[in-house]
Amino acid sequence: MNFNKYELDKNILRALKLLNYEKPTLVQEKVIKHVLGHEDLVVKSKTGSGKTAAFGIPICQKIDIESREGQVLILVPTRELAIQIKEEIGLIGRFKKIRCAAVFGRQSIEMQKNELKQRVHVIVATPGRLIDHIKRGNVKLDNIETLILDEADEMLELGFADDVSYILDKISNRKQTMFFSATMPDFILNLAKRYMESPKYIEIEDKIKDSKLDIVQYFYEVENKNRKIVIDRILKEYLPEFGLIFCNTRSGVESLKKYLKRLGYLCEGLHGGMSQGMRIKIFQKFRRGHYRLLIATGVAARGIDFDRITHVINYELPFKHEEYVHRIGRTARMGNKGCAISLVLESEMKFVKEIEEQMDYSIIRRELKKDDIADINSSAEVLKSKPSGRKDKAENFNKNIVKIRINAGKDKKIRPGDLVGAIASIDNVDVEDIGIIDVQKTCSYVEILNGKGDYIFSKLEKKEIKGRRISMKKVRIRNF
Ligand code: ADP
Ligand code: MG
Repeated sequence: MNFNKYELDKNILRALKLLNYEKPTLVQEKVIKHVLGHEDLVVKSKTGSGKTAAFGIPICQKIDIESREGQVLILVPTRELAIQIKEEIGLIGRFKKIRCAAVFGRQSIEMQKNELKQRVHVIVATPGRLIDHIKRGNVKLDNIETLILDEADEMLELGFADDVSYILDKISNRKQTMFFSATMPDFILNLAKRYMESPKYIEIEDKIKDSKLDIVQYFYEVENKNRKIVIDRILKEYLPEFGLIFCNTRSGVESLKKYLKRLGYLCEGLHGGMSQGMRIKIFQKFRRGHYRLLIATGVAARGIDFDRITHVINYELPFKHEEYVHRIGRTARMGNKGCAISLVLESEMKFVKEIEEQMDYSIIRRELKKDDIADINSSAEVLKSKPSGRKDKAENFNKNIVKIRINAGKDKKIRPGDLVGAIASIDNVDVEDIGIIDVQKTCSYVEILNGKGDYIFSKLEKKEIKGRRISMKKVRIRNF
């Protein structure tokens, strides 16, 4: 069963091929046809099951590329998730030339305003910042036909209930509303009743029963004062390829990071107290294999998609059962096996029992090995090296794409058509080779596809655009 049966645009099929999405995941199998059929949907499916593409593929299919105003609005609880979804939609829609903008807090509002002024088909937003833009009149939402809430359950937990209702009320012309979530609390069901028309409920297998199959879970009983020593020993014993370590507080993250760095581990920290730009950088570097251990708070790691995490370590146990399930679900994604290890205080043994009952799984008690310390230390050298890197999702795309920055924009009355005209007049080039064009105030960007970038650049440099030679250069492609 592959994606061909949906009769998707050839440009989308081409992108799925580069993404190595060979066949739909279970949730995609169940959801795509209903999204294509314009139905209202409430979808519950576990983390890591492929929900983004479950809505991403069909909305890219349905988008009218010629229309200049936003057609799809996706609300998400966190900045990280906004960036991730923008990237995924951007890749799925790359050859169809779909443009996706992301707006979220703690990034320049002016910059986002400019992005929203361009032609954008899809807007991904955190509720607070979107409302900011609405109130400033920076964004037109009259043409939004499809509204999606992703990680709807987290929206409530992070206190976005009122903001979400406010936005849902604003998008009055919409034709389709969809909620995606790993759990289905009453909040979502109530919202569905209020804002949807005879929605279809789709539930994909039980997350808890399922996760226990692929994740081995261990715990070590520790005393608070020994945590640091114990985690050092655990890391040396398990040698995670990609480890995600959870702390409950920002200061916990900082302090553990300092400690592990001092021991020579390659690691970074991620928490809500850090600047936006910093958090993006750190997460991207993790995905690209610059270091092995990411230490994070639960909230900062929420929604993060990285399917190669081999070990989740609870340096501190969370306070709620659901959070435990959520955390360990960061590993064993897309059919990989994973390992979850928790440091547990004696006073927390009751919590462990409760989780075990809820999951119907006995978490395995382990003791630190009393091996020769010298032996352990030498194997731990591994942790000071980078993991064997893997290609980023976007890499397959970018190797055949060159982005050119042209030093003239709206100020020089440049329109996308002028650039298309100039490029398509080059020998052996046609419109199919031209990707997304972005004309800004004082400069323009154009993506050249199909590996013709260098050739086109060399010719275009010598051509006149709107009657004059304009300087230009090749620039790095950023996917977020
Ligand atoms: P969820 O939103 O359900 O937590 P994601 O949408 O983040 O899950 O997807 C999890 C991972 O699965 C991502 O790395 C994504 O690229 C990958 N993925 C999604 N769909 C497919 C597919 N059809 N084939 C292979 N990998 C896929
Ligand atoms: Mg998701």
